[in-house]
Amino acid sequence: MSLITAFSLDLNKNIQSTEADFAFQKGLISSQKNFRCSTEDCRIAVTCANLEKPKKDRKVAPYFKSTENHISSCPFAIEEEKLRKNSKKATAESYYEGIDTTKGNTLINLALPSPKTQNNKSSMTTNNRHESPTSSSSKRRSEHFINRTKTISALATSFLEGENFSVTLPYPYNEELSLQELFIEVNGQDVEDLPQDTLRVYYGKAWINNVTGGFQTKFLNALKTTTYDGDLIEANPTIFLPNTEIINSPYKKFREIEKMLKGRPKNLFILSDTPALNSTQKYINFKFQGLQYLEVKL
Ligand SMILES: [Zn+2]
Repeated sequence: MSLITAFSLDLNKNIQSTEADFAFQKGLISSQKNFRCSTEDCRIAVTCANLEKPKKDRKVAPYFKSTENHISSCPFAIEEEKLRKNSKKATAESYYEGIDTTKGNTLINLALPSPKTQNNKSSMTTNNRHESPTSSSSKRRSEHFINRTKTISALATSFLEGENFSVTLPYPYNEELSLQELFIEVNGQDVEDLPQDTLRVYYGKAWINNVTGGFQTKFLNALKTTTYDGDLIEANPTIFLPNTEIINSPYKKFREIEKMLKGRPKNLFILSDTPALNSTQKYINFKFQGLQYLEVKL
C-alpha cells in the first residue's frame, strides 16, 4: 500500500513524496530509506520507492511504502488489513492491469485459489452450467490468461529444474527478466547490492518457528545492511506469517504449518520487494504480502 505522507528522518517532519523527490535532488535527503510512518506512535520503517532512481529509469513516480507491519492502533494498519482482504478476491489478471501482456512472457499468478476449487474439483463444472454467454466469453479470456501464468510454487519447480524463460513482473514493477534472473539466493549479500524497488524470488534454507500471533521464518544465511547512523549490521532475514492468514489458508500445506516446525530446515521461496531494515534497526525483514507469495519445499 502506498502512503500519501511519511516522516522524513532527515527533515524531521511529515512530507509528501513529491517534496521528498525535490529534497533528494537538492541533497537534503540522503537515502530513500530515511523515512518512517507519519503516525507519531507508529514510526515503522518506510521507503520512498524509486527516489534514488534517475528520472529516466522510473516506471512510476516515487511513492512511500511501508517495509514492516504498522502497529495495530495505526490507522494504516486497518487500511492495510482491508486491502489484504480485498486482494484475496483479486484475479490473476488484476495484478497486470495496464501492463502489456501480449508478448508471450510468463506472468506470475498471484490470485489465491478459492478453498472450494482446491477441495472440490467438481464444483467448477457445476457452476459452468448456469452461465450466460457474456460471462463464458470473459471466462475464456481469463482461462487464456491463466494458461500463461505460473504460481510461485510452479516457478520454483521450473527454476530448480534449470528451465529458463522470460517473465513479466506485475504492476507497478512491470519488468521483464529471465526466470534464472528472477531467483536470488539469500547468501550474505549487502541489501544495497540487491535489485532495488522491484520484485525477486528470494530463496534459501530457513527455519520456521512459532512466535506470538503467528509463525516466523528465518533464513539460515544472513544479509548485511547499514543503519541510519552508518553502522554495518548483519541479520538473518525473517518473514512474519500472521495466524489469521494461516488458519483460513486455502493451502493445505500452510494450514498444517505445525508439521514444518520439525526436522531439517526447509527450502523457502518468497516473491518480495527488496528486504529492509526494521525501524529499531536490528532486523532485516521481508514484508508478508500473502501466502500466494510464498513457497516451502520440504
Ligand atoms: Zn503506521
